[in-house]
Amino acid sequence: MFKRITGVVFFTVGALLLIAFTAKKPVPPKQGSPIGIIIIDPGHGGRDPGTLGSFSRESHVALAISLKLGKAIKAAFPDTKVLYTRSTDILPGNKTMKESYYYRSDFANSSNGDLFISIHCNSIGKKPGGWYEKKIVSYRNVTTGKGKKKKTKKVPVYKSYYVKNTHKGTETYIWASDRVGLKGEAINQRQEESGEHADSSIEFDMNTPEARIRAQLYEKKYFGKSLTLGNFVEEAFRKSGRISYGVKQRNQEGIWVLQATGMPSILVETGFLSNTEEEKYLNSDKGQQEVVNGIITALRKYNAALDGK
Ligand SMILES: [Zn+2]
Repeated sequence: MFKRITGVVFFTVGALLLIAFTAKKPVPPKQGSPIGIIIIDPGHGGRDPGTLGSFSRESHVALAISLKLGKAIKAAFPDTKVLYTRSTDILPGNKTMKESYYYRSDFANSSNGDLFISIHCNSIGKKPGGWYEKKIVSYRNVTTGKGKKKKTKKVPVYKSYYVKNTHKGTETYIWASDRVGLKGEAINQRQEESGEHADSSIEFDMNTPEARIRAQLYEKKYFGKSLTLGNFVEEAFRKSGRISYGVKQRNQEGIWVLQATGMPSILVETGFLSNTEEEKYLNSDKGQQEVVNGIITALRKYNAALDGK
C-alpha cells in the first residue's frame, strides 16, 4: 500500500515536472525586425510563363528578382525567415494554374507568414518591343480607262513606320476588399487591357461565406499595413529614378492570392516587359538589384513603422 502511494506520488511529481519543463520551452526573442517570416512569391512559373517580352518571360525574371530579394532580406534582417512559394522554374502546386494560386496562399498561411510579397512583371498588352503602323504621306493620281471613259482619281501613298512600345514603370497592388462582388467584371476589364496573362481568365468564387469573412478580416487587420508597405515600395522606386504609378487596388491576375493570405500582402509589378528598354533593365543584374534595394528600403521603413506603434 505504502509502496503504491509512493509510486503514485513519484509518478505525479514526475508528470508535473515534465509538463512544467515542456511548457517553459524558451521562445527566442525577436531582434531587429518585428517580421518573423516573409513569404516571397515569384509569379507564374513552369508551364505558365506569365507575360512575354521580346526575349524573356515574366516567370524567369520574377524568379531571378525573388531569389535576390530573399538573399538581401536574410542579409538585412538576420532574424527574419524567408520562405519561397517556388525557388525553381515550376508552377507551384504542380497542377492547374488555379490550383497553383490556392497552393501559394495555403503555403503562406500554413507557414504562418507575417508578410507576403509577390513579384511580377507587367505588360501594356501590345506587341512587346514595338509594331509597324502605316500612315498616308501623300496622294498620287491614277488614271484608268480610255477616251471618254478616262478617269483620274487620287490614291493615298502609305509609309510604314515603327512604333516603339514605350510604356514603362512600376506599380504595387494591394487587395481591393471593397470590390469583392466585382471580381468577375474586374477580370474581364484586365483581359481587354492586356490579354497577355494566360491566367487572367481564372475566376475565383468570391461570394462564398469563407471568402467574405476573409475579405472582412483583411480589411480590418491587413489592409492598412499592406497599403503602408506598398507606398514605401513605390516611394523607393521613384527615388531610384523609376516611373511609379503608385499603389493600386484592383482584383486582377494573381491578386487573388493577396486576400487569401492571412497576413499583410503586396504584389509588386516591377516593370514592363513589353518595353524593350525596361525588359533589358529587368533582366540585368543592376536592374534586378535596384528593384531589390527598393524593396529592402521599404521593408526598413515598414519595420520602423511597426516598431513605432
Ligand atoms: Zn504576372
